[in-house]
Amino acid sequence: MQKIIAANWKMYKTRPEAAQTVAELTQALAGGTPHDRLVLIFPPFTSVDVVVAAFRDKKNLAVGGQNFYPVEQGAFTGEISTAMLKDAGATWVLVGHSERRHVFSESDELVARKTAFALEQGFKVMLCVGETLQEREAGQLRDVLSRQLSSALGPLPEAQRGTLAGRLAIAYEPVWAIGTGKVAGPAEVREAHAALRALLAEMLGETAADLPILYGGSVKPTNASALVGLDNVDGLLVGGASLEAQSFLQIIGS
Ligand code: PEP
Repeated sequence: MQKIIAANWKMYKTRPEAAQTVAELTQALAGGTPHDRLVLIFPPFTSVDVVVAAFRDKKNLAVGGQNFYPVEQGAFTGEISTAMLKDAGATWVLVGHSERRHVFSESDELVARKTAFALEQGFKVMLCVGETLQEREAGQLRDVLSRQLSSALGPLPEAQRGTLAGRLAIAYEPVWAIGTGKVAGPAEVREAHAALRALLAEMLGETAADLPILYGGSVKPTNASALVGLDNVDGLLVGGASLEAQSFLQIIGS
């Protein structure tokens, strides 16, 4: 399976700053992205078209939206639609990121509506799941992952579920590891990814084997290759360390 190395730029970078970072990336990748890697960037909305323009006609590079509201259009002040993202050139969307769940109180129900709507609109979805420290310490890891997966994927129509390969990726991001410098250890990552693969198999049958499961949470150039080499780790979702081209390039090459 092609490994996905994804960058979440969160609320960082003006358009000129995004253009500068992406120019450094494309220059360094001019000889081609490692063939077994897909490099995916989730810039802020205002820079989606900037990154799309820099990636045009290049292989194994893609751009996604960090957020959207799951209806076609309407009186939703401050929101962005999937049509707007499509127009800007995005092909992926991030759904269920822990900052959306915990800072903006997005419920499992909204995450489910966003997942279904984005798939229906032809987007590829990166669905983020992960437990808080409190949940982990209470021994609830599997229950949390099961609840988050089943609430997001359970309501999908049967026809959608059969065609998720190539259109859905899962990102395991323990909340306690995001932006904290605390990376999950190999045993913790292995355990969570194996649990996710098993849960996906229960829900989706054979398709589960074809769904990439990424790890995210304080990934750095120093720990990326160890993480990406673990069983059931099909890529990395990187926040802080993706903001500097040189550091993200080291992760891409890990
Ligand atoms: C993220 O935003 O998805 C993330 C994993 O952030 P960081 O790498 O900074 O922990």
